[in-house]
Amino acid sequence: MNIDQIEKKIESLQQSSIRLEPDEAKRKEDFNSFQNYSNGFLNKVNDLPAFVADYEGKENFDNYPFKEKGTSPEEIIEFLGENVDRAGINPASGGHIGYIPGGGIYSAAMGDYLAAAMNRYSGVFYASPGAVRIENQIIDWVAELIGYSDGYGGNLASGGSMANLIAITAARKAKKIKSRDIDTSVVYITQQVHHCVTKALRILGLDEIIIRKVPMDSNYKMNTTKLDELVKKDKEDGLNPFLVVGSAGSTDVGAIDPIAEIAEVSEKHDLWFHVDGAYGGFFILSDEVKDKFKGIERADSVILDPHKGLFLPYGVGVVIVKNIDYLLEANSYDANYMQDTRDHRQEYSPADLSPELSRHFRGLRMWLPLKLHGIEPFRDCLDEKIWLTRYFYEKVQKLGFEVGPEPELSVAAFRFNHPDLDNNEINKKLLQKIHNDGRVFISSTTLDGQFWMRIAVLSFRTRKWHLDVILDLLEEGVAEAIPAQS
Ligand SMILES: *Cc1c(COP(=O)(O)O)cnc(C)c1O
Repeated sequence: MNIDQIEKKIESLQQSSIRLEPDEAKRKEDFNSFQNYSNGFLNKVNDLPAFVADYEGKENFDNYPFKEKGTSPEEIIEFLGENVDRAGINPASGGHIGYIPGGGIYSAAMGDYLAAAMNRYSGVFYASPGAVRIENQIIDWVAELIGYSDGYGGNLASGGSMANLIAITAARKAKKIKSRDIDTSVVYITQQVHHCVTKALRILGLDEIIIRKVPMDSNYKMNTTKLDELVKKDKEDGLNPFLVVGSAGSTDVGAIDPIAEIAEVSEKHDLWFHVDGAYGGFFILSDEVKDKFKGIERADSVILDPHKGLFLPYGVGVVIVKNIDYLLEANSYDANYMQDTRDHRQEYSPADLSPELSRHFRGLRMWLPLKLHGIEPFRDCLDEKIWLTRYFYEKVQKLGFEVGPEPELSVAAFRFNHPDLDNNEINKKLLQKIHNDGRVFISSTTLDGQFWMRIAVLSFRTRKWHLDVILDLLEEGVAEAIPAQS
């Protein structure tokens, strides 16, 4: 091809590719359609079911393949409404009181929108000092919350699992666990620790590490006398105690391990102390409960999930490591094609502190809401959730239910017992009744071999009436199960 032909070719391709760059009128039109859709959803979010147990519909996707030509927002919206934003759990509903919810505040969606529209590159300081500073400002704020001063480093990962993985990678570097040390090194957790911690060990190639399940007290908190004994014994046996993981709010029952006591034992034995605060960490903002986190500043690393405790949409978990050197040692890199960035390293880049290079500019979805609303409504919302949980905990006992440990934060377990009935059976029935109703969604767990229902109040949209719905359904369900009572 000569230059003329090449130019013609480019010209004709541009006629087509320009469709990826809508003009302002078209941008507004499309945005309007999609915004109307989300507004319609949010306007009625409290009337929508929290749970729809419908797992049919695969063929709708099979019959809706990608095509050469595009289609209208209206058609796409209709498809999404029917096939995505309907069945399963509705995490935007205040009735989502199962697992650990968060809700997804709208202002974060605007942060995401701006991040995507401008597409700033947040991985490397040289590429976008502003985007990196947004993220570093968040890390500084969270570090200050947990009481770290100078020398720490952190990262906004995609969630708690990734944040834990990054922290444990730093721990491994710090404690110099080489391949040959794996099968003699020991990690201490409790049975309540989130499964992503042992998953992280597996991903890190530490499958053969020794895992000790430290006994817990009757409130499902780590027994630190036993921890101390286990570590001592392991040392005497020539093993290499390496890491202890405490939960600041366990997923199952919301238990906060005795953080200061674990810190004591870790300092004594030179263990890396990691705190998993994915669920509970941001409750440190609450004057109501912040004393329960005393000693967290002594941990070597901490994670917190803004998509739980700050009510953001899914997709962000914070990890902070007390000594940034270990994060750098695990993640920083250099490469010839990165040489231009070398002169601009006066501030830390996420790419040097995490496994990611190119990544979503997820700082903005957290920074923007904190700026727009201020911290106060977040704090008050957390307090509200604490009190809602206490309200439920009192009320459900009045209905004759057995309860688990007094809620530390916003999780409570409960079950019904009756001398003439199979208690696991009746509690499963009660849960099924709630699921069939659909207005609220709660989940269950197994504690000491028994089936328990649990509530986790952490969607910012959860209000008192949601809990009253559960209480009403439980009361009704119990009356149905034991008709002889009346
Ligand atoms: C939710 C949770 C995790 C996992 O976090 P993801 O953001 O879901 O990856 C880890 N630990 C605890 C205590 C949690 O509650």
